Amino acid sequence: MKQRTVKERIDFEGVGIHTGERSRIVLHPEPENTGVRFYRNGVYIPALPEFVVNTFHSTDLGSEGVVVKTVEHLMATLHLLGVSNLTVEVLEGSEIPILDGSGYLYYRELKDKVVKQTEDAQILKIEEPVVVERGDTYIKVLPCSCFEITYEGEFETYLGKQRYTFRGNVRDIILARTFCFEHEIEFIRKNGLGKGGSLENTLVIGKEGVYNEGGLRYQDEPVRHKVLDLIGDLYLLGMSVRGKFISYKGGHTLNFELVKALYKNLASVRV
Ligand code: ZN
Repeated sequence: MKQRTVKERIDFEGVGIHTGERSRIVLHPEPENTGVRFYRNGVYIPALPEFVVNTFHSTDLGSEGVVVKTVEHLMATLHLLGVSNLTVEVLEGSEIPILDGSGYLYYRELKDKVVKQTEDAQILKIEEPVVVERGDTYIKVLPCSCFEITYEGEFETYLGKQRYTFRGNVRDIILARTFCFEHEIEFIRKNGLGKGGSLENTLVIGKEGVYNEGGLRYQDEPVRHKVLDLIGDLYLLGMSVRGKFISYKGGHTLNFELVKALYKNLASVRV
């Protein structure tokens, strides 16, 4: 697989789901071996594990006191499209626009603008099983030349147990939106988060159904969104990854534990 970038600048604007700020970003093409990085207030922030500053309800990157919040859905889109070299300039706000809460609008704008470069891309191929755990949750990864992700969730409310396996078809996950449960909203707001959250960008799940007009986009939309989040967080490895992932109730914090575990071994498993 060759390295890839975008052929021209691409603009997005919207609201930050947690800050509630208006947000404007520009994606700029970059030469080979630049990697994916963010740029805000004169500071470059590489999309790598050592720049992760928060994983509570979003994945945030920072350097020299400059933070860019909620990078995961854009990162998932870049991972799915194999975009290896790109600068995401944050012109306004401190958070990546949430748009409709999924990766769809990023994917739609980018997919025809991705161009191949000349050098080969690095790919992390999992060669031995790795497990990370936290309480009753875990993520396991097994060697495979595939990129397969199974997510299993157990939700209070009518959703109950859901299990979904992604086998590479982007359309199966790209529309899955950020979600929250009605009973969590007060807690999220108390933590100063979710200020930009609305039914326009978040699937709000009540005891017996969802509040969004039009209902669910997939009958198991929440677990599909969790897969999207994991794909985004995995791209913090700085390269695409091949393997079979099984996440039981994982979230950003556990995803990041896995990224750190894989990153530590990178030198020995790099191909
Ligand atoms: Zn998400």
